[in-house]
Amino acid sequence: MQEVVPQKLHAPSREPMLRVGIVLAEDKKSELRFSVPLPYEAKAASSAVTLAPGSTYVVRVSGSALEVTSGADILLQAAAPLHIAPLKPQPLAPKSGMTVEGIVAGRGFHWKKELTQTLPGSFEVHLSEGNLVLVNEINFESYIACVISSEMGSACPAEFCKAQAVAARSWAFVFLSNKHSGTPFTICNDDDCQRYQGTTHATTETIKAVLACKGKLLLTKEKNICPAYYSKSCGGHTEDPAEIFGFHVTGLSSFADSNPKTPQKIYCSPSFVPEHDLKLYLGAVDEKGKYYRWTYLLTHDVLVENLKQKFGLSDVAEVLSLIPKKRSQGKRITQLQVGYRDQNGAKHEFLLPDQYDIRRALHPSFLFSSAFELKNHREKDGRIGTIDLHGAGWGHGVGLCQIGALGMALAGHSYIEILKHYFPACELVSAY
Ligand SMILES: [Zn+2]
Ligand SMILES: [Zn+2]
Repeated sequence: MQEVVPQKLHAPSREPMLRVGIVLAEDKKSELRFSVPLPYEAKAASSAVTLAPGSTYVVRVSGSALEVTSGADILLQAAAPLHIAPLKPQPLAPKSGMTVEGIVAGRGFHWKKELTQTLPGSFEVHLSEGNLVLVNEINFESYIACVISSEMGSACPAEFCKAQAVAARSWAFVFLSNKHSGTPFTICNDDDCQRYQGTTHATTETIKAVLACKGKLLLTKEKNICPAYYSKSCGGHTEDPAEIFGFHVTGLSSFADSNPKTPQKIYCSPSFVPEHDLKLYLGAVDEKGKYYRWTYLLTHDVLVENLKQKFGLSDVAEVLSLIPKKRSQGKRITQLQVGYRDQNGAKHEFLLPDQYDIRRALHPSFLFSSAFELKNHREKDGRIGTIDLHGAGWGHGVGLCQIGALGMALAGHSYIEILKHYFPACELVSAY
């Protein structure tokens, strides 16, 4: 996702409720299967029915109305919207809530798939031009606990979880409004907003950590909420958003990911976080473990294919050169010039204008980061055969470095010290 300029917002005085779009009209669903762990009530304007645990229910489109069925029995038939909620409010716990089948993840990506997820809070089912829309209504803190639980594993120290929660909460407040105007929800459940899979991956530790720093936000000098970006690993030096995204953000700058008194000891390096332990810490969504320093062998053919498919350069016959034109303070390449020859032998130059496009161009899906050195291996006839990339870090490097924050927590730092390190110009406040 390309980053957008953050809006300036003041801290809210109380915890908001959020309406998360779980099944969207574009998913084109006409029925959904779900089950409940406790008695729930399904209610429309004129009728209501109690849903008992142990059965699978289906809500489906029936003409211009909705119906709820169990096996062959129609339990309720009514105009949308339909409300579904537990009879007694439930505290947030791992795997607590209603289980819904066939939820789409990765909309618009080649890895798009359907998952079964367990979702806390209450629900509304709407109809949009004949398609179901499922909205999950939850409080903001539950939402944060669910979102961060997909980012981290069960071995994570509590102080890391708290620092991550404050960063995610601050970021979310700034970005999660008005993205889906004209729909019955505020935000969606996918990467387009933030990945939300309910309590499916939540642990007691993540829930406790979020509760322990409830309502805490980072504010800039001007008392606006800081859009507290985070990425997996800065690679040793964090980045200034002006160089990476092309816009300035008050409170965020570029600096070494270490204590100034011991500059050679980098928090996100294996001396703080052993690489073979990373998968225990960082949870289900992240693969393998070499993020601090990595190598990748790019073939000429993959590069040509990417330039054609992702950048519309259908005339590329041979790539002649890759020349970094600009680097950020954290050594990410922010402009990369591609020299190439077309089918008629004419030479061209094409500029990859930012780290995002560079990462898209140099990998079949997405390169870890654009902080790399490259070395061409030429064939006997002088053509580029493969390109060796020696890189550092994973992600854009702006804001909190997740592996560095983990390294600090493992070394005994508190979440307040971690946030002070990554957001030195910001103030930590309790909003509610
Ligand atoms: Zn969205
Ligand atoms: Zn780092």
